[in-house]
Amino acid sequence: MQILHQITSLRAYLQQQRQSGKTIGFVPTMGNLHQGHLTLVQQARQKCDIVVVSIFVNPTQFGVGEDYDSYPRTLEQDSQLVAQDCDVIFAPSVEEMYGSQPRLTQVLVSEITQDLCGKSRPTHFDGVALVVSKLFNIVRPHYAFFGEKDYQQLAVIRQLVQDLNFPIQIIGVPIVRAEDGLALSSRNGYLTEAQRKIAPTIYQSLQQAKQDLQQNKQSLSKVLAHIREQLNQAGFDVDYIEARTPTLQKIDEFTQDIVIFVAAKLGKPRLIDNLYIAFV
Ligand code: AMP
Repeated sequence: MQILHQITSLRAYLQQQRQSGKTIGFVPTMGNLHQGHLTLVQQARQKCDIVVVSIFVNPTQFGVGEDYDSYPRTLEQDSQLVAQDCDVIFAPSVEEMYGSQPRLTQVLVSEITQDLCGKSRPTHFDGVALVVSKLFNIVRPHYAFFGEKDYQQLAVIRQLVQDLNFPIQIIGVPIVRAEDGLALSSRNGYLTEAQRKIAPTIYQSLQQAKQDLQQNKQSLSKVLAHIREQLNQAGFDVDYIEARTPTLQKIDEFTQDIVIFVAAKLGKPRLIDNLYIAFV
C-alpha cells in the first residue's frame, strides 16, 4: 500500500490502472478510522480491483466553533488499519486540496441540505459537496462508498452525482455499531467514560420506537416525543428527532417505510444516528 500526498502522483498512478482496465473503488474519509470505515473499505475491496481511501479533514465542512482543530489526526495508525484492503491512501494537505489562490467556485445542493443536520450546520453540506466533487475529479473512481450513518450526506452525494453527471456508482453501506448499539464514529472518542455508557440510549430509543410503531401501533408523534423524553432524561441536549421517508420527504404519520433521524449532543460530541423502519 502506498501513501500519496500529491494530486499529480495519485493521478499518474490511477491513470495507469485505468489504462490496464482496472476498476477503481473510492472511500472518502476524514481519518481516525474505525470498523465503520473499514467495512466500507472491505466492500470496495470485494467489488473493485484498486481501492483508494482518502484521509482529509476538510476545513470547508466545519462551521465556526466546531471541532476542526481538535479533530483526531491519526494517519500512521489509520494506514496500519487499512493496509490489508487498500492500495493507496490519498492524504493531501489543505494547501494541496485548496491551493493558495482564492476559491470562487461553490457546489451547492439545495432543498435536501436545508434541514436535519443542515439546520444547525448551515454550511456543512456545501463543504461536503465541494470536497467530494474535487475528490471525484481527482480520483475518477468507478465506485464510491459512503456510510448510511451519514444518511443525509449520502442523499446529498447521490443528488450531486445525478445532477452533475459524475460517471460514478454510489454504494451505500449500512451503519456499523458497537456491541451495545452505539453507531461507530470518530467523534465517540470525545466521550468521557460515563458518557460512553449513556451514549447507546440513542440506539435503544430508536429500537423502542420501531417496536412502538410496528407492533404497538402507536402514533408517530407520540413515538418521536418518547425518544425525546428518553434522551432528555439521559442527559442529552437534543438537536432534532425527525421522521422522513427514505428519500427525506416530510411525513406526519406512519403510513409507509420511514427513517427516524436523531442528532443530540452529549458533552462535547454531537452524535447522529438513524433507523429505517419498514411499514407493516
Ligand atoms: P468520516 O470519516 O466521518 O467523514 O466518514 C467517512 C465515511 O465513513 C462516510 O461515508 C461515513 O458515512 C462512513 N462511516 C462513518 N462511520 C460509520 C459507521 N459507523 N457505519 C458505516 N459507515 C460509517
